[in-house]
Amino acid sequence: MAIITVHTDAIQQIKVPLPFPLRWVNSYLIRGNSGYTLIDPGLHTAASEQCWEQVLGGLSISYQDIEQIVLTHHHPDHYGLAGWFQERSQAPVHISAVGYEQIRLLWGEGQPMTASLLALFRSCGLPAEMLAPMEQHMDEFVAMVSPQPEVTILPIGESMRLGNHEYATLHTPGHAAGHVCFYRAETKEMFCGDHVIPQISPNIGYLPGGIDENPLGSFLQSLIDMGRYEVERAYPGHREPFAAFGLRAQELLKHHEARLEVMRQMLVKQPQTAYRVCRDTFGERLTLHQMRFALSETLAHLLYLEERGMLKRSDQDGVVYFQVV
Ligand SMILES: [Zn+2]
Ligand SMILES: [Zn+2]
Repeated sequence: MAIITVHTDAIQQIKVPLPFPLRWVNSYLIRGNSGYTLIDPGLHTAASEQCWEQVLGGLSISYQDIEQIVLTHHHPDHYGLAGWFQERSQAPVHISAVGYEQIRLLWGEGQPMTASLLALFRSCGLPAEMLAPMEQHMDEFVAMVSPQPEVTILPIGESMRLGNHEYATLHTPGHAAGHVCFYRAETKEMFCGDHVIPQISPNIGYLPGGIDENPLGSFLQSLIDMGRYEVERAYPGHREPFAAFGLRAQELLKHHEARLEVMRQMLVKQPQTAYRVCRDTFGERLTLHQMRFALSETLAHLLYLEERGMLKRSDQDGVVYFQVV
């Protein structure tokens, strides 16, 4: 696997390793007259540190040459190394205000998201014996996002200079609340983070905390909104840069429509928990990591159907059941 791919005079793609089936996250270095813009540096692991030492050494770039660090969204595979880079470069770390709010809930003082997520999963019917390992799993991420950077809020909707050029900052919530894509109309380039990825359907999960009560609704709307942009080269957070951005967005829309119908059918005959629907959709052999995302994804679909008036919920001993209206 080539670690560095040169795309234009100014844009280089770096594959930073991940200890997950995704295998790597794409970071992008954009060269400019006043230094490099680094998009999504990766997850903080020893392997990522080693990767960057090798890459920067090979390209003769010093940490002080990094002008700014820019994040498409707050997920640990993108945000995790931001603080490590900031310590070495003193560069500002830009993320959306909503992204920062989630960082504080997930990994800030007291990690309040852990308790609310466990309570949510309990109400979804996740078996009690999986709750303690799930809590441990959540805790394990703290090291992979530490040290945490001082953050500069990225102004969504305004343009931002990356390298030598201005890019529009486009709000694309769904995969993550506060997700941002960067678009340059002159060259029809889009840095699309995890909003649109080739081959993989980005995880659309519900998180408690009142930040987005219908993430699948947000995601589908973001896909429709993004269809307005002409894109010749899309730089995604995973897999390889690609050209067929509009087509991929259409495929993702269809994928979710089909999945919504499959889940709705599961709830025609009798009420089920989100956990049961998750098992019936994603299978019995999920790791804890996969279960966390599969259950959040299932819930995002059920909440979307409920919002559309297609499902109703009932409560039995604190566990929520969904059924077709
Ligand atoms: Zn992500
Ligand atoms: Zn990602």
